[in-house]
Amino acid sequence: MLTPLSLKTLPNVSQYDTHPPSGYNLTMQTDVPNHTINLYDLSRRELRSLLSNWGYSDFYAARIWDALYRQHVTALCGIPDLRPDLLASLRKETHLGILPVKIATDSNDGFTRKFLLRLHDRQTIEAVLMTFKGRATACVSTQAGCAMGCIFCATGQMGFKRHLSAGEIVAQVLHVSRILRDRGKSLRNVVLMGMGEPLHNYDATMKALDIIIDHNGLAIAPRHITLSTVGLVPGIRRLADEERQVRLAVSLHGASDAERQALIPPARRWPLMELMDACQYYSEKRKRRIFFEWTLIAGENDTTEQAHALGQLLQTLDAHVNLIPLNPTVGFAGQPAHEKGAKEFQAILAQYGLPSTVRQRRGIDIAAGCGQLRARDSQS
Ligand code: SF4
Repeated sequence: MLTPLSLKTLPNVSQYDTHPPSGYNLTMQTDVPNHTINLYDLSRRELRSLLSNWGYSDFYAARIWDALYRQHVTALCGIPDLRPDLLASLRKETHLGILPVKIATDSNDGFTRKFLLRLHDRQTIEAVLMTFKGRATACVSTQAGCAMGCIFCATGQMGFKRHLSAGEIVAQVLHVSRILRDRGKSLRNVVLMGMGEPLHNYDATMKALDIIIDHNGLAIAPRHITLSTVGLVPGIRRLADEERQVRLAVSLHGASDAERQALIPPARRWPLMELMDACQYYSEKRKRRIFFEWTLIAGENDTTEQAHALGQLLQTLDAHVNLIPLNPTVGFAGQPAHEKGAKEFQAILAQYGLPSTVRQRRGIDIAAGCGQLRARDSQS
């Protein structure tokens, strides 16, 4: 049985609503005119509609879209071949919600570059560029802070600040894409595993995904996008009912309700049986394998009992387990499982025909675990 060292108060059930709070203004700004539209908040259809309302043809919308997502312009005046009157309207009515970098730090192993990005209201969020074996991945945040309160997570320990708009999520992907572009490479993979619970900010997250998937823009293939959730059942079911073919990763960390609830407060709201039903539903509707994340905590959930329980729990699902040794945080005394223990855990899963991968911990020296750089910055 896990012993929570600093179990948070469980947020109200209403906080798990998969919609942003009513009245939340996607274009609300404090250091830019608050009536202006963040262009990154607009889908291509919305951009066309905006320009059509101003009396411009789709040709101009396509040109702006191309400049934003193919040429990666960083200022409205950088959009090529715009009519002066259209540029004046854009300047008056819109802005580009580029996120300034507060801190950028590279890991010693050279695989990870982490950014603390500043939002318009001075909240900060993290985005990470990971490059390994020629594969580049952007890890982005969907919220500033997080309401879920997972006790081992630095973001969970800081609490919830606010949801991000679609444009603020898109801007992170663009930030990483721009860096790769400067290196003559392109971004192919995106994971929603930064700060926040993506399904708690469902609408903005899905809109952001639609924008980065758009084949005329960044054109990230849906199968190269991984959405990670701590197990918000209504959101998983909603995702199953929609068309996007993104990869779903569910954070389990415990194979019994008692084990999960000790680590993840939302597990009290949605017990394992409900979560597994939702995963089965997702798997049948979307015909996709589900990835299960398991943070290995030494002496806690890396035991042979937990490995057998996990094997039994998932053996009827099309599943893959990612075993990730814990990234230690200041607010949680747990330690990462040893490599030998991780391998033994993996061998037990194999007995149940369950494929798994032991993930390498990268970027420990730059606080690459979600929320750690922001927590470090707020302490300095
Ligand atoms: S692990 Fe994910 S869901 Fe849990 S507190 Fe951290 S950011 Fe939120």
